Amino acid sequence: MSISFAFEPYAPVTAPISASALRFPVHRIYCVGRNYAEHAKEMGSDPTREPPFFFCKPADAIIADTLPVPYPPRTQNFHHEVELVLALHRGGKNLTLEAAAGCIYGYGIGIDWTRRDLQNDAKKTGRPWDTGKAFDASATLGPIHLHSVVGELGSGKIWLSVNGELRQQGDLADLIWNNAEIIAELSTLFELRQGDLIYTGTPAGVAAVVRGDRLEAGIDGLGSIQLAIC
Ligand code: MN
Repeated sequence: MSISFAFEPYAPVTAPISASALRFPVHRIYCVGRNYAEHAKEMGSDPTREPPFFFCKPADAIIADTLPVPYPPRTQNFHHEVELVLALHRGGKNLTLEAAAGCIYGYGIGIDWTRRDLQNDAKKTGRPWDTGKAFDASATLGPIHLHSVVGELGSGKIWLSVNGELRQQGDLADLIWNNAEIIAELSTLFELRQGDLIYTGTPAGVAAVVRGDRLEAGIDGLGSIQLAIC
């Protein structure tokens, strides 16, 4: 029996795959908080005492790197966080590190957009982060580069510039939890599935943008993406 819907269901959220006509169907977006020691310190935390942690964004928060990012409402402190994004083609629960590494289909350059003022209010009051992190168009994603083409991305520069001025710079080798460790740890909390995306955390240098700013973000091995705030 065919299903009848009360209204037309939304089309699946998808992301482009580099040098391919195929699209990557997005299941969930997981994000890692404070995964670079220098960024944890700039956020006022001690990375030696407090391990990284997870939060989520809705899948339809994805916005292609080719689109300008709309300045969101209810903020005066809209921050960029450049991140390596893992795209999974396999999942599971309680994965070993080896199984976790085998889940990686590809990598993308992402920006975890943050309404920092709302996030800081939530931290102070012990409330959820969703309004600070999980709003519309809060997850820029560039094309996914296949693991089978670019190899393991365990080191290399990650950076972001605003209007030609370098703001964020780090090295993937400085991740507190590396790619396989993130996936293994996450799989003890959620059953991971093909189509999941993981934003792996941002290096130091997060700061505010305003309308009209032009950004470029890059990761060694993945090239760079360019976008504007509108
Ligand atoms: Mn982040």
